[in-house]
Amino acid sequence: MTVKELVRKIFFVEIIKGLALTLSRLFTHAVTIQYPKERRPIAPGFRGLHALAKHPQTDKAKCVGCGLCATICPSQCIHISRAKGTVEKYEIEVLRCIYCGFCVEACPYSAVALTENYEYSDYSRDALYMTTEKLLSNWDKYMAGKKGEEYFKKFWRPLSEDFGTPAGQAVFRKIQNAK
Ligand code: SF4
Ligand code: SF4
Repeated sequence: MTVKELVRKIFFVEIIKGLALTLSRLFTHAVTIQYPKERRPIAPGFRGLHALAKHPQTDKAKCVGCGLCATICPSQCIHISRAKGTVEKYEIEVLRCIYCGFCVEACPYSAVALTENYEYSDYSRDALYMTTEKLLSNWDKYMAGKKGEEYFKKFWRPLSEDFGTPAGQAVFRKIQNAK
């Protein structure tokens, strides 16, 4: 131990510095807030609880069950099954999600969203397993109306509507009267 360190120890320099810092903060404005009565504003594009987007006209899920979101999901927590050409089951194990947002980014149909809801803690794992019904109702609760449309346009591009078919490109057409 050096002489300087010894002197600092004898005269409690570090403790006095700590007390001085505490005293200087005693009369300043508190940085803590009284949650849940007070809340901080949510950052734009916040990634909270998931929702399955609905068509504004038909009120049905936009998801076509292509599986792009499930493929890109690093946590492998999205489970999809299709039947009769439509998505039959779309489920998310929320406890495994890392909120990377890749699922939203990968979806070309703006069919899955991360809402602003962060208050969904619960006592059971089952409550945090998002079934298709729960995900669709999350859309109604947190993203209905213009909010949902703006969410995709503001934070997640490109969307399927951003792509066109270049002039002269060969496209698949259903052959009429094919035998
Ligand atoms: S936010 Fe990331 S981890 Fe969570 S479901 Fe989407 S892709 Fe998976
Ligand atoms: S949410 Fe989007 S990417 Fe995922 S299966 Fe549905 S349509 Fe495909």
